Amino acid sequence: MTEIVTTDSPSFSTLGLAPELLRALTESGYTTPTPIQAQAIPVALAGGDVMAGAQTGTGKTAAFALPLLQKLLPLANSSTSPAKHPVRALILTPTRELAIQVEESVKAYAKHTQLRSLVVYGGVDIKTQTPHLKTGIEVLVATPGRLLDHIEQKTLQLNQVQMLILDEADRMLDMGFMPDLKRILALLPKQRQNLMFSATFSNEIKKLADDFLTKPQLIEVARSNATNDNVTQKVYQVAQSDKEALLIQLLKEADAKQVIVFTKTKLTASRLSRSLVREGIAADAIHGDKNQQERIKALDAFKAGTVTALIATDVAARGLDISELPMVINYEIPSAPEDYVHRIGRTGRAGASGVAISFVSDDEEKYLVEIEKLIKRQITKETVALDKPKSASRTRSHASNQVKEQEAPTRRLPAKKKSADPWFDKPYEPSTQQNNVIATRQINTKKAPVAALLGGLLSRK
Ligand code: AMP
Repeated sequence: MTEIVTTDSPSFSTLGLAPELLRALTESGYTTPTPIQAQAIPVALAGGDVMAGAQTGTGKTAAFALPLLQKLLPLANSSTSPAKHPVRALILTPTRELAIQVEESVKAYAKHTQLRSLVVYGGVDIKTQTPHLKTGIEVLVATPGRLLDHIEQKTLQLNQVQMLILDEADRMLDMGFMPDLKRILALLPKQRQNLMFSATFSNEIKKLADDFLTKPQLIEVARSNATNDNVTQKVYQVAQSDKEALLIQLLKEADAKQVIVFTKTKLTASRLSRSLVREGIAADAIHGDKNQQERIKALDAFKAGTVTALIATDVAARGLDISELPMVINYEIPSAPEDYVHRIGRTGRAGASGVAISFVSDDEEKYLVEIEKLIKRQITKETVALDKPKSASRTRSHASNQVKEQEAPTRRLPAKKKSADPWFDKPYEPSTQQNNVIATRQINTKKAPVAALLGGLLSRK
């Protein structure tokens, strides 16, 4: 697939958007379309199917939400009859968090129209969502499982859907949503427009596009499977048994303000979070076993800066709008190389620089090889000395730590110091309050620096 990079970004008005939408964009602080918006909006407005390569943080939500709203505008009405507000656009996302964020954006862009939107997702009582659905809504954002639950309960009909958006399609496949997607797609009218967004392009994604899209226009603003040039990537070679001590040391010495730490399993995420808390580090875990309220609470605390280390599994972290993180740590590197791209895509966004550190033990080397193949670059490797090997403070693996120390570590971790860039010392600003779970949510009016967004993308060759 060829890379498309725009250098002359048009304005939103030259893209042919309606005044109601332009007004909402101005109020959201958007002045210039991001590359994915400049590329995708005209194609989608013209009615064509789109397959777009774009990660969270590139402005992809507006890239599909704006044309979607514009196309539904002629059908907007103020009738109180639910029949006048059938679901006309369906946006499917892999995770609840992403669904919530997407719907907040839709609401913000639609604020001067009479189009209604709603988000439905699992993990909360389905009965709380039904009354909102029954009032009638034009734009429905949903996770696949909960959507099917509503269909089964006959609280929802999809026979008037004219636009389908598959957001983060690669993740939907990774999460095993293919059977659900097939069931949902079979319920939609054949005549419809389809827009598919994916951060990576695997063969499965291409197959999905073949199955569900009609002659899609391919749009890509950042190289697929590429990692961001703003991110400094490092590998710390470390024994599995030393990882916990290394993490604690790193978090304390780097005085890290906001770090996402990725683990492979929910169990490790929980255990690690407890260990960090015992060490006086404000940490919390976010994974599939946590209920929605717990996840929202952890996320809000992290965004507000009261939790400095968020320990996450891939699935839980997917889709979070935590797009300007200074640091990501892979406590365990993922066995699927695409997950590495997703994980480190959490940092170095919006033109800011970021650091992605991966702890790699001997038996993880094989995954590292695959990752380097995918991103087409070698990652700098360092051996790190532990001030206090884990065995000294805790029980396990005394011998292995001694061996490790005798292996002449090449480097000590940096001493605690202020970041060169003051941005690193600021806590992340929350984009929204995520306390109410459905329709009543506040509109997301966070202003992302578009010049930086653009710069981040345009800088790559
Ligand atoms: P997304 O990739 O859709 O999750 O968007 C990432 C962030 O960029 C969100 O906080 C959006 O509100 C913001 N954003 C999207 N498009 C623009 C734009 N054209 N100008 C400024 N901010 C934008």
